[in-house]
Amino acid sequence: MAFKDESKPSGPVTLANGATVAVDRDLCIGCGACTAVAPKTFGLDSEGKSTILASADEDAKETIVSAKNGCPVGAISASE
Ligand code: SF4
Repeated sequence: MAFKDESKPSGPVTLANGATVAVDRDLCIGCGACTAVAPKTFGLDSEGKSTILASADEDAKETIVSAKNGCPVGAISASE
């Protein structure tokens, strides 16, 4: 699994579209909802926490915002 920023797998990272995305690993329960909605942006790591993938620039900003809004514990932050 390749992360957008290898030093910060769960962000915050700024994408090509200008959005800054981060996952609060303490809140993430590893449900996988974000990986289903935005599979190019989010992936679960070996600890079952959501991370931001190197392919994140391939998802539309709207897709990432949908994933953010769908997170059941509010662990995703994404500037619009
Ligand atoms: S939707 Fe939220 S809780 Fe579920 S894996 Fe993604 S960041 Fe974690």
